[in-house]
Amino acid sequence: MSFSASVLTLYPEMFPGALGMSLAGRALETGIWSLETVQIRDFATDRHRTVDDTPAGGGAGMVMRADVLARAIDRTSPPSDPRPRLLMSPRGRPLKQERVRELAAGPGAVILCGRFEGVDQRLIEARQLEEVSIGDYILSGGEPAALVLLDAVVRLLPGVMGNELSGEEESFEGGLLEHPHYTRPQEFEGRPIPEVLTSGNHARIAAWRRAQAERLTRDRRPDLLHDE
Ligand code: SAH
Repeated sequence: MSFSASVLTLYPEMFPGALGMSLAGRALETGIWSLETVQIRDFATDRHRTVDDTPAGGGAGMVMRADVLARAIDRTSPPSDPRPRLLMSPRGRPLKQERVRELAAGPGAVILCGRFEGVDQRLIEARQLEEVSIGDYILSGGEPAALVLLDAVVRLLPGVMGNELSGEEESFEGGLLEHPHYTRPQEFEGRPIPEVLTSGNHARIAAWRRAQAERLTRDRRPDLLHDE
């Protein structure tokens, strides 16, 4: 069974976007995964197709209405749907490779993209949405976040990446940042490729890469070393 993504959004034209190209795009064409977009506005009931309203308690901006979103979710993902329901949200659990791997092993995902100030809290609770953040910064909408999440997931689906091994050696997969890479030319602006990499000694190369990965992680992301 292929990975099935449903994205609820006010901007369906943003999809597949970057995911229609390169590895993800080819995998979409060959049916390794599928992508459905749902226009949230289609579930508004008034003449103006209103999806948002002013925040209760006052303040700036607008809030997406629970009733409109609930109809969109229920139509897209009935209670029997085994797929997790995600809400892209800066308040969510930060997305990590571990969750990406879990999602890639599952049936797919239903992804709600917020806009404005966000969505009515009662919708999050009533539909038990899993809030997912892609980092500590504020986007203008959940769509780029959904594209990021799906990109990370799709590349892990079987048959998407040519060289399966390259996925396993990547940053985070072993709890470390990845070692630096080099390729031809042998010398670039006076900088040679580190000698060990051209030595042909695979044990030495592996030890060097491991040491580099550890040093980089200690210098840049010491938090990863204590994350386990
Ligand atoms: N007022 C909110 C931000 C709303 S940004 C707050 O301060 O928390 C509008 C929408 O963009 C959000 O509903 C969410 O869907 C999306 N978004 C913004 N930043 C995000 C992030 N870091 N990760 C995931 N989604 C994000």
